[in-house]
Amino acid sequence: MRIADIRVTPIAFRDPPLLNVWGVHEPWALRAIIEVELADGRVGLGESYGDLETLANLERVRPGLVGLSPFDLNALARVVYAAVGGDPDVGAPFPRTGDKARATAIAAFEVAFLDLQGQALGLPLHALLGGAVRPRVPYAAYLFYKFARHKDDPGYPADPWGEVLTHDQMVGAARRMIELHGFGSIKLKGGVFEPEFEIETLRALRRAFPDVPLRIDPNGGWSVATTRRVMPQLAEPGLLEYLEDPAGSLEEMGEIARFATMPLATNMVTIAFGHVPRTVELNAVQVILSDHHYWGGLRATQHLATIGRTFGIGISMHSNSHLGISLAAMTHVGATIPNLVYASDTHYPWQEDEVIEGGKLAIRDGCVDLLDGPGLGVRVDRAALARLHRAYLDCGIRVRDDAREMRKYDPSWNPSTPRF
Ligand SMILES: [Mg+2]
Repeated sequence: MRIADIRVTPIAFRDPPLLNVWGVHEPWALRAIIEVELADGRVGLGESYGDLETLANLERVRPGLVGLSPFDLNALARVVYAAVGGDPDVGAPFPRTGDKARATAIAAFEVAFLDLQGQALGLPLHALLGGAVRPRVPYAAYLFYKFARHKDDPGYPADPWGEVLTHDQMVGAARRMIELHGFGSIKLKGGVFEPEFEIETLRALRRAFPDVPLRIDPNGGWSVATTRRVMPQLAEPGLLEYLEDPAGSLEEMGEIARFATMPLATNMVTIAFGHVPRTVELNAVQVILSDHHYWGGLRATQHLATIGRTFGIGISMHSNSHLGISLAAMTHVGATIPNLVYASDTHYPWQEDEVIEGGKLAIRDGCVDLLDGPGLGVRVDRAALARLHRAYLDCGIRVRDDAREMRKYDPSWNPSTPRF
């Protein structure tokens, strides 16, 4: 059972004009679809970032994987360490500066390797990963301020969400998302407007949905002083479940943690195992939003969850714009983590395109049901893959740049954090 061929295909799919601290989403989001093929034709799937750096790293790794067994994940790590650079010793301590490029490359192929393992054994991935502790995995309604349309018409229909720039429009978007998918938690992407305005939006959401846990994520857009100023408002009883990345550095988060009255969460300051010691020293965050795409894969996500149990840090999952292969992987691993104590983030409702057979996976009652087919339980739709690869070739975007897109609306736009 040896790997005979590997394909990495960059794709682009439609993305709405969602606002964040850096600017606005471009009309096309990029991903890479990884296919690891055995001599007998079985294919394992992975999904990763589609930017040039990731594609270059995956290409560096790819030739070294041919001939490996998909069960040999240590060999995968050795090939990645040798190909991507840095200390080639896979047993060396994790660098305190992080190792995102290597972890990302391992993750991209690890999911495909695990998919093949599951197919070979006739087991769904959640069984291979130790067994599911829940029958379905909860996700949160991920709300954004947004424009109605992209500035330059990308040649596809406007999204059905319309403009979301007021408190009422945000409540409407939340209502629509909950009606469509039954979400039981809400996350508001912040860092767009003054904190006081965004807190007013939170209050409007709280009034409209009295019992639904709320979070806000300013993406490092607030200074420590600003966070201190608005903390009394954020601390209103019952308003926030947690505050995600108000500031953008571990040291600042440690400072904020000393006066915050709610848990702090992150997918920005603790993003690698090498960051964990300092995180613990500072007690900087109480929730880590894991992301198998850059933590090093599904098994690494399980290791991180164990570290969370060790140090009393809650675990949930972070998301970028993604398609169904990533959602399937997140759902499999999420099902196996006993201490996944918060509903996970997903951009999936914002995406209309899909690259898997049968179209989009269902989110019902705010959850994705376990997939019980062998391996990941999803197969690539080759016609869709070809179509989305064509979109990649045609769209002209090679590296995501939300600031460049925002300058189409505001030529003077030059984001630097903290913005507020
Ligand atoms: Mg975040």
